[in-house]
Amino acid sequence: MAPKKMLMIVCDGLSDRQVKQFDMKTPLQAARKPAMDALARHGISGLMDVIAPGVIPGSDTAHLALFGYDPYKVYTGRGPIEAAGAGIQLRPGDVAFRCNFATATRDLVVTDRRAGRIRTGTADLAKALDGMSIEGTSVMFKEGSEHRGVLVLRGDGLDYRVTDVDPHQDGKILESRAMVPEAKKTAAALNEFVRRSYGVLSGHPVNIERKKQGLPPANIILPRGAGSTKDLEPMSQRYGLKCAAVAGVGLVKGICRMVGMDVPDIKGATGGLDTDYKAKGEAAIKLIGTNDFVFMNIKAGDIASHDGEFGMKVSVVENIDMMLGYVLKDAPEDLVIALTCDHSTPVSLKDHSADPVPVTISGGGARVDGVREFDEVSAASGALGRMRGMDLMPTLMGIADRAKKFGA
Ligand code: ZN
Ligand code: ZN
Repeated sequence: MAPKKMLMIVCDGLSDRQVKQFDMKTPLQAARKPAMDALARHGISGLMDVIAPGVIPGSDTAHLALFGYDPYKVYTGRGPIEAAGAGIQLRPGDVAFRCNFATATRDLVVTDRRAGRIRTGTADLAKALDGMSIEGTSVMFKEGSEHRGVLVLRGDGLDYRVTDVDPHQDGKILESRAMVPEAKKTAAALNEFVRRSYGVLSGHPVNIERKKQGLPPANIILPRGAGSTKDLEPMSQRYGLKCAAVAGVGLVKGICRMVGMDVPDIKGATGGLDTDYKAKGEAAIKLIGTNDFVFMNIKAGDIASHDGEFGMKVSVVENIDMMLGYVLKDAPEDLVIALTCDHSTPVSLKDHSADPVPVTISGGGARVDGVREFDEVSAASGALGRMRGMDLMPTLMGIADRAKKFGA
């Protein structure tokens, strides 16, 4: 059999729990979603523990597992992923942090962890910090979306095992501590960077202007989530596939880049509730033409869940369904499609949970089972049974006639 092309669609946090006020339905059960249901009807379904039973996945660790990498072996922290998402090429030995632009008093007491959710001027502020040198350690700093940024420390003898400076609430900034003796230099450089950031940013024209307007100044950087890159075997080598991704949100883009996928910027793919579903669908179809494996993440469901909005989540399901219908119409006939989630985010919890997620695979050698709808309850009776996230890629490879024989 000729090997088939594959499309993996991950609906971020779309999986949920049944909600009493809504007829004991999950948002997936409550929504009208003809395309998703058609996929389930023509495919093979099951439930998936994305990392392991009882483990609540973050989006980062979950995606690593879905791509077939053991997050317990390759994940150090979120910093490197954010750095990759911001387009910083990390080298082995670099230590990366996620950061907030925040507001602090002269005594370094944080009064607003997001500097009034600052939206403009952070690129100029970042430039003022980028290129700093602290006793032989060089500093790279890049702004992210809104109040976020990325810090990378580069130099000899650094180690990511340091504690956060970010107090995670209003109050005195924390002194970073080395968790192992090898990380002492890193903690010292980090603390010095934060102190200097206050000096550099306090007098910056962007902040002088903000003060004039009565806005809280973004006068300090709060780093957290230290990590180093592990050299990840790219998916091209691991699976022999040419891979590309359609994603809006920086964190997911970062992971895709780390595993060697081509991640084009797509106009209108914002990673928010306002994302352009049609643009994403069109991009996926185009990429399928030139790649063996295309990955797609749609973040909106997770955002609606974190806000606790059941109705909003139902409409996200329907929007994704519309996009899927569009993709199915234009996709090559023998395309193998996997539809799933990276974790559950129940609206009742407004946060991620350890509940397994539904998964459906159709096309190629998928043996059609009796499941007729794509949701958390229907999937439980499917022929895929209960699987783990790390098994998804090998399963897909088998169904797409790309698996290799073991033995004679
Ligand atoms: Zn997620
Ligand atoms: Zn989330």
